[in-house]
Amino acid sequence: MADPSFIQVALPVPLPQLFDYLAPPGGPLPAVGSRVVVPFGRRKLLGVVTGHSGQSEVPAARLLPVTAVLDDNEPMFDPALLDLLRWCWQYYKHAPGEVVAGALPPALRSAGNGLPQPPPQFRITADGRQRLLQGPGRAPVQHAMLEALAAAPCRADTLAAIGSQWRKTLAALLENGWAASEPAPPDGLLARSDRPPGPQLLPDQQAAVAAIGQDFGRFRCHLLDGVTGSGKTEVYLRLLESVLDAGGQALVLVPEIGLTPQLLRRFRQRLGLEPAVIHSGLAAGERLQAWAAARSGRASLIVGTRSALFVPLPRARLIILDEEHDASFKQQDGFRYSARDVAVKRAAELGIPVVLGSATPSLESLKNALEGRYGWHRLRERATQAALPSWRVLDMRQHGVFHGLAEAALEAITACLARGEQAMVFLNRRGYAPVLMCQTCGWHGLCERCDAHLTWHRGAGRLVCHHCGSQRRAPALCPDCRADALMGAGEGTQQLEEALERRFPGVRILRFDRDQTARKGVLDRQIEEVRKGEPCLLVGTQMLAKGHHFPGMTLVVIVNIDQALYSADYRALERMGQMIEQVAGRAGRSDKAGTVVLQTLHPEHPALALLLGQGYEAYARWLLEERQLAGLPPVGYQALLRADAHERARVERFLQEAAAAFPAGGTRLFGPMPAIMERVGGRSRMYLMLQAGSRAELHGQVDAWLPRLRELKTGRQVRWAIDMDPQEL
Ligand code: ADP
Ligand code: ZN
Ligand code: ZN
Repeated sequence: MADPSFIQVALPVPLPQLFDYLAPPGGPLPAVGSRVVVPFGRRKLLGVVTGHSGQSEVPAARLLPVTAVLDDNEPMFDPALLDLLRWCWQYYKHAPGEVVAGALPPALRSAGNGLPQPPPQFRITADGRQRLLQGPGRAPVQHAMLEALAAAPCRADTLAAIGSQWRKTLAALLENGWAASEPAPPDGLLARSDRPPGPQLLPDQQAAVAAIGQDFGRFRCHLLDGVTGSGKTEVYLRLLESVLDAGGQALVLVPEIGLTPQLLRRFRQRLGLEPAVIHSGLAAGERLQAWAAARSGRASLIVGTRSALFVPLPRARLIILDEEHDASFKQQDGFRYSARDVAVKRAAELGIPVVLGSATPSLESLKNALEGRYGWHRLRERATQAALPSWRVLDMRQHGVFHGLAEAALEAITACLARGEQAMVFLNRRGYAPVLMCQTCGWHGLCERCDAHLTWHRGAGRLVCHHCGSQRRAPALCPDCRADALMGAGEGTQQLEEALERRFPGVRILRFDRDQTARKGVLDRQIEEVRKGEPCLLVGTQMLAKGHHFPGMTLVVIVNIDQALYSADYRALERMGQMIEQVAGRAGRSDKAGTVVLQTLHPEHPALALLLGQGYEAYARWLLEERQLAGLPPVGYQALLRADAHERARVERFLQEAAAAFPAGGTRLFGPMPAIMERVGGRSRMYLMLQAGSRAELHGQVDAWLPRLRELKTGRQVRWAIDMDPQEL
């Protein structure tokens, strides 16, 4: 092959290819992994160099040189990470440039920013110590800051806690020579002897730590399958200690809602270091700092949500993915990847172990464990000697109801509060009432853009669509018959909260749902309050099901799970089982036993009987057998061709042509069929489903199909995308 004379660049455009460019005039080829600015049509775009090559399909005369090479030609991505990104765009059939751009922190997606200097830390000087001896005098803030610095060198974020005057005060200290700045040390991992010791591990925990520890330095996937409260986090902490002590880096991925201050505090206290935190809610500057710290190796523990998966890790030794069954690990639009699957792939490429933790493993992971492909470590007892909760099923056909709660459930709450304990009511529907309905003519609010009811948010006086977000003012009179007869039908968390306030006057009631916790800090404040253990009653949505440890919680009431029992989505039963088990896991986590009350109209449903009678694992194995019979994932492999447009006919026409263009082979094709919720945001959504017994066969046929799809003229009138291993129908 000729000497490489071109570079291939990933550009953030929705096209399936890379683009060839020449070196800048007079300069060498920019390094693979570095950022460049290139001419693209009449625009200038920022891209990342993914490779060098000796030949181009574009005639040499038409190739253009790059306009600028950024970051002093320093690669942003190492070759291993680029290989992972390449695997991603090939596997998920997504535009390479969008995959690569998405892996850069937002601040680096424009040419104005480069890698930041690490934040300095500040220390007290000898003069500063002299000054401290003179006492606060008339400068109490200054004195407080000197005291903080005398205790230990601090970063700016720590000093900010001293008060709003901190910037001015710090500037004055520096100017007077009482404090000095210096580069901060990596991330301050405490020496092992200075760390608080953890509890003595239980035998099952010990065995898991030992088995996973055997695999340091090579790839293996481990399923840590432990009931809630069984000490999974404790296992992570021991593994992290080994990794950090050996000078390695570890990446811990958690679901969106799992990244609580408690978890970070636990890492901080036990490891004595400051984790670098990465999630999409961070300001661009903070995110860039954390990313740069990981990339430079200064940060050894990186904790984040899905978007942290692609952070550069020059010293990676371990990846942990907590609550691996959680749906938020799958990106549901754009680049539709599964962070769990890509994390396993990344560990395989890096030759390091990956730990998937859950109390309710996904069927995918359970199958891998059953077949021996994953290490399987079960923690079946709660670490704190707390007994697993007992179940009580209330047949709602036989119980009087008060706002959706059976009298027996209310009595259980009364008794629980009287014992000085805490209770929670779980209802997977936020808002006041699902529908505002006219008692005279039956009118109810429907979203004009979706196949969905509008949910009544009484406090705000609005009708809100939970699918497209559109809202309008709730009418006072019926829009159809003008009767003054509008009433809420069904229950939402807001209404339940109100009803419970009336029923339990004087009891502290806290609501946990997206409306209540939208404001920053509310969720954490409420969690802290519950953790104090005073008697209280929680009302909330699935937000309550995730990971929180509430020691005083002994009663969980699950209002209604019946929808899942008869859903059109074959995953609904799996999710229901996970949800019930997770919610139940909130009950009785310390020394007192917990009770879970489940209200249903179908107490005889075999799925429910199995789940409650024999537990999640037996239930999941049964679901897996059912999937086996139907050839459904994880036994078979699926992909969707999704399409949507304002006019249904266009979607249908495109999908019909697409179906006709599907190459011959072993993959079966179903559809076109409408999505379970067809209309969202005014667009009709439909799909073709592809199902195969082998992954290779499915990918081979989809890859052969894609160029044909791009040729279809009807495809230009709709939005379409491939969804590999889809999670939602
Ligand atoms: P999980 O992550 O499985 O929900 P955690 O690791 O949070 O479980 O442990 C639940 C509780 O049990 C925590 O309070 C933790 O400190 C405690 N714990 C964990 N392991 C042990 C142990 N070996 N001995 C005593 N307490 C433990
Ligand atoms: Zn009416
Ligand atoms: Zn809508």
